[in-house]
Order: sequence, then C-alpha cells, then structure tokens
Amino acid sequence: MGKHRLMVVEDESILRMDIKEMLIENGYEVVAEANSGDKAIELAATRKPDLIVMDIKMPKMNGIKASRIIYQAFQIPALLLTAYSERDLVEEAKNAHILGYLVKPVTERDLIPAVEIALAQANRLKAMANDIKKMEEKIQDQKIIQRAKGILMEVYQVSEEQAFKMLRSYSMNHGMTMRKVADSILLNRKLESDATAI
Ligand SMILES: [Mg+2]
Repeated sequence: MGKHRLMVVEDESILRMDIKEMLIENGYEVVAEANSGDKAIELAATRKPDLIVMDIKMPKMNGIKASRIIYQAFQIPALLLTAYSERDLVEEAKNAHILGYLVKPVTERDLIPAVEIALAQANRLKAMANDIKKMEEKIQDQKIIQRAKGILMEVYQVSEEQAFKMLRSYSMNHGMTMRKVADSILLNRKLESDATAI
C-alpha cells in the first residue's frame, strides 16, 4: 500500500505548515495545500487526495461548505479543524463525510490518531460506495437480461429456461458477458423496430 495522500486546507499559513510537517514526519504524503475553500475545491479535483484536513473558519467559503461540495463531487471526506469558540459550527458539520474534528491548537498527539481513524473510516466509506455501485450494476444487468430473455422467448417460441440457456451458451461460446449478449439482443430488436417504422 502506498502512502496516504492528504490535502491541508488552512488560512493561517504557519498552522498550515505545522500540520503539513507533522503529517510528513509521520509518513503521510501532503499532495496539496490551500488557504481557502475555493482553492480546496480546485485542488481536490486535480490532486484527488484520500483525505482533507480542513479548517472551518476561512475567508469567503468556510470549510464546512467546501468539504460538502468536495464530497458531493469527488467523494473525498474531511477531518475538520476548529477553534474552541466555533463549537456551534461543529453541530452543522455532523455529516457522513466529516470524519472527525480537531480543536485548535493542533498537536501531533491529537492529529495523527485522528488522521488514522479518519483514513480507516474513509476506506470503509469507499468500500461501501463500491459495493452499492456493484449492486446497482447487477440489478441493471438482471433487468436487461430479463428483457433479452423475453425477446428470445417470443422470437424462438421457447421457454424461459431455454431462453436463458441460449443466452448463457452464446455468452460462453463468444467470451461475452451475459449482459453484453443481452445488450446486443436489445439493440437488434430496436434496429428492427426502427427499420419497420421507416
Ligand atoms: Mg481559519
């Protein structure tokens, strides 16, 4: 496994450098740093870090809004930095993509375990999103295969089981997935019906 890639977003440059150094010293790669929410969004798009350490209070766009936008667009979660006086903002930040928050001043003792936990959670989030995507694809495959089977049953006057066998043996003989075969059958049907419409 390669180094974890992090982005640090903090408008106070000294603190930003401190955090960056702590991360590097602990074996992380800091692939981007930003001093504003806007810049963070831009860099998240190009650098695609695994996790963002994000200050809440920054001029123009705050860290909560920026992290929400980044998560929606790129599914990159964030660990928030907050001053003690901003505790009310933390309420607002209770969201799936916020994997924790650190109260300033940030010490290495607090930062590193928080980053570790956040990265583990980020991995779980990613795996879960992947599972959901695969499940959705499977459901879609089944729908298409079902429709293709219906066409075969109608055209060849065969039972559902026979239609399924036809699909399966074509897919095995031609090294195509069942979904690909089903797609072709559906496309064929569409071309035929378009042709008769002309
Ligand atoms: Mg700030």
